[in-house]
Amino acid sequence: MVGVAELKSRVREAGGPELLERLEWLDAERARPPVAEPSVRAPEPGTRADFDVVLAGGGLSLLYAPVLAGLGLKVGVFERGRAAVVHREWNISRPELRPLTESGLFTPEEVESLIVARYEHGVCRWHGGGEYPVRGALDHAVDAGGLLAEVRRRAGARGVRFHEGHTLVGLGEGPGAVRLHFARADGGRTDVTARLVLDARGVSSPHATADLLCPTVGGVLTGLREGSAPDEVNPRVGDILVTTEGVEEGRQHIWEGFPGRPGETTVYLFYYAPARDVRGEPALLRLYGRFFERLGRYKQGEPRLLRPTFGYIPGWSRLVPPPRAPGHRVVLVGDAAARHSPLTYCGFGAMMRSFLPGARAIAAALHEGRVPGGPVVHDTPLHAVTGALACLMASPPREPALRGELNALLDAAFGALHELGNAPYSALIKDQLAGTDFVRFLYLVARRRPRVYREVLALVRFGPLATARWLEGLSRAVLQLRASS
Ligand SMILES: Cc1cc2nc3c(=O)[nH]c(=O)nc-3n(C[C@H](O)[C@H](O)[C@H](O)COP(=O)(O)OP(=O)(O)OC[C@H]3O[C@@H](n4cnc5c(N)ncnc54)[C@H](O)[C@@H]3O)c2cc1C
Repeated sequence: MVGVAELKSRVREAGGPELLERLEWLDAERARPPVAEPSVRAPEPGTRADFDVVLAGGGLSLLYAPVLAGLGLKVGVFERGRAAVVHREWNISRPELRPLTESGLFTPEEVESLIVARYEHGVCRWHGGGEYPVRGALDHAVDAGGLLAEVRRRAGARGVRFHEGHTLVGLGEGPGAVRLHFARADGGRTDVTARLVLDARGVSSPHATADLLCPTVGGVLTGLREGSAPDEVNPRVGDILVTTEGVEEGRQHIWEGFPGRPGETTVYLFYYAPARDVRGEPALLRLYGRFFERLGRYKQGEPRLLRPTFGYIPGWSRLVPPPRAPGHRVVLVGDAAARHSPLTYCGFGAMMRSFLPGARAIAAALHEGRVPGGPVVHDTPLHAVTGALACLMASPPREPALRGELNALLDAAFGALHELGNAPYSALIKDQLAGTDFVRFLYLVARRRPRVYREVLALVRFGPLATARWLEGLSRAVLQLRASS
């Protein structure tokens, strides 16, 4: 394994000193043991709150702010760094963007202008297995920076107040409001009160207790060779999930690559892991070292990194208790809540499904003098089942003789999906698989790989409680999905 000093020099050389600095910061933050948020003196009964809603974190969840303000609430956004700045690119299918217009935030033409590329289809390809094309899923690349800059502008126009360089360090909940304590970038402190807090701090929230983690690195590249071979870039095709080797160092590395503006391609390398295993190692730095070293195996050419994109995406397997807010007046949203698919980690798609109904539920509750009383983000029973597959992917067999087994299992699963037809295949990726199709999918996977249930039930090593949760989730999912189809 390459040493950390050598990795740093490679990353600095390929991505520049700023990339290295930001990676080291993110890795160091993850390495810190989780500490409970210090408790702050709760506001007294009858306190008149400064805000109806405080959004702690100004990343993708910023979408809540203009909608809540449009529903008559006084909203403040408090962000550790700069709000509406992203180190990522997003892909999604066109219909999933509909809430942007349904919310009244954007016109259809404005949404069109945020789409930087659309492609004919995507593929999933497993090393040693087949290639499975799918249409209508993750086939539009969105200008992530442009989207958030516009959301911010619209929020400002609706009266949302922005406080940047404000790190939330503690909170205390009283009967009618929460007091929040912020450390300012200038060294000072700020206290504010709010009737409701949206914890939108993503994976950095102390309440983001999801059990899986997906370290992701990569960026927007130019110079990749265009063509139709698997190791060339075809601007009409997106790679959704592609592996170029078996399990190495206990991890199944996966590539994703999708066309962007003409001549540009976004490429990611990631793996799934139990969150506890990623603590204490410079995971993003190591992964970037691998990215630069192995990129040539994935795509030919003379790549130049235009814009690095990276981060940790949490995933909740549904086999352990969910991330929970610390009080009634705190609501988890986005990655902190981790209710998105533990298989695809598509937090952007999940946000599209959540921000509008979530904001409406919050506004309705506050206007009636209540609190929402539970999660406001979208979830689906299907995740209770696919979470087990995500766990398998996060803890693949380490024995050298078995390094191809995970690819073989995924090949059976995606072969079955493809056999089912494009509609169910793309629906699974978009979290919309119907009940009867799901049952057929399980049947087809078992026919291709009869030992699949034994493999999943080997989850018993997570303990009887996790297995019981999975079996309960499976029966609930099948019943609910059947009823809804
Ligand atoms: C490299 C990468 C690529 C991705 N690509 C896709 C994709 O193609 N499709 C898809 O569906 N999803 C994708 N995702 C997932 C998606 O980006 C996330 O699910 C989404 O950004 C989560 O939004 P969020 O608001 O919860 O968190 P974030 O967008 O991460 O924002 C959290 C914000 O909170 C701030 N913050 C943290 N701590 C504090 C604090 N104490 N006080 C104040 N502010 C704080 C941070 O500075 C940050 O701005 C990708 C993620 C990554 C990392």
